[in-house]
Amino acid sequence: MLVYFFVQKINLFFMQENSIDGGIYKLIEQYYGKGVGIIKENNIRSLSQERVVRLFMELVQVDSVSREEREMVDRLKGIFEKLGFTPREDGVASSINGNAGNLIVDIPGREDLPCLLFCAHLDRVQPGRGINPIIKNGYVISSGDTVLAGDDLIGVAAIIEALRLIKEKGMEHCPVKLIFTVAEEVGLLGAKGLAREEIEAVDYGFVLDVDGDIGTVVYKAPSQIKFNAVIKGKAAHAGINPGEGVDAIRISSRAISRMKLGQVNEETTANIGVIKGGRAINIVPDMVELQGEVRSHSDKALSEQKEHIRQVIQEAALKYGGKVEYRVERLYNGFELFPESDIINLARMSLEDTGKEMELMISGAGSDANIFNEKGLQTLNLGVGMEKVHSPEERVALENLVELPGLIIRIIQNVEKIPEKSGKYV
Ligand SMILES: [Zn+2]
Repeated sequence: MLVYFFVQKINLFFMQENSIDGGIYKLIEQYYGKGVGIIKENNIRSLSQERVVRLFMELVQVDSVSREEREMVDRLKGIFEKLGFTPREDGVASSINGNAGNLIVDIPGREDLPCLLFCAHLDRVQPGRGINPIIKNGYVISSGDTVLAGDDLIGVAAIIEALRLIKEKGMEHCPVKLIFTVAEEVGLLGAKGLAREEIEAVDYGFVLDVDGDIGTVVYKAPSQIKFNAVIKGKAAHAGINPGEGVDAIRISSRAISRMKLGQVNEETTANIGVIKGGRAINIVPDMVELQGEVRSHSDKALSEQKEHIRQVIQEAALKYGGKVEYRVERLYNGFELFPESDIINLARMSLEDTGKEMELMISGAGSDANIFNEKGLQTLNLGVGMEKVHSPEERVALENLVELPGLIIRIIQNVEKIPEKSGKYV
């Protein structure tokens, strides 16, 4: 019922000139020709909704795995130029070994209003080439053995459609900045490489890159480190002189069995994801490599866990006479926004306007929002309706896909109601 009411509402908002039950399918037919059957079956009721679904399905078919986003960037440049905007690309490609940079669009607006950032990433995980999307039972799914790339093209398509509508309707609006990042899935590299000056004039940021229905708002996310431990033993013949060897597999077994892993405490998780080592069954193994990660909402807990892992490996190596090289790299810093902050109020009232309730969520994963917060810009990560991401079962409900542009427009409209330029960290 709520959904039906909302569809009516969004329809009236975007399509005042068309009667809901009357001319719309005819109009869509004139505009797009075939494909109206699918639209009718799935209760798509406006040109705008039709466009965002179509755009999404087109974009997922453009191959764009991490560091190979060239074709996608070019496609989007074309779309924005057609809309009368001036897209540009930054220089991050060479520093991350990719073939395309972040795509940036500055859209001037009323100078007396805060400037908003909307961000989505252009890359997808593997298997992500040759995606063939289909609509089934109200969902867009991938018909092959690939992901759908709804992560994160739902966000991309919705941002484009929102801006298209604003332009068509000639709506007055605040300054808006769009940043479409590259290489997000391989360590947030595009966002990390983005020049800080790019977001200096921005007051509030919204990343559209979380699973969960529209209404999900991530206001807190952890820090993450990765570690690599190389355990060195000594090779020897397994049958002739095993006693002269130092068994690196034994060292790592002892270490791992004493290591706190999984949900370490309320705020912290740890995982060893890769073990490599050994040469042959008749050789005492002289080398094992462990690769893992730690995430935590507390910096103290993060460094304690990091130290704990180092200590148990060290202790095991000492016991059996091996050596350890332990390297740690910080991947990104966590963030937490105050639930009554202006940016969260902006999200809350915009969701309410579209008939949704806000659900504040703590994420266990990092996103471009971590990087923007780290660079000094308060940024939320919004749920877009992606489901079962990073798997061939990935899907998105049409209902979410067609409603997202409306939420973006509400956020842009409602910025007028919050105090000016107060979203920066000081
Ligand atoms: Zn994503």
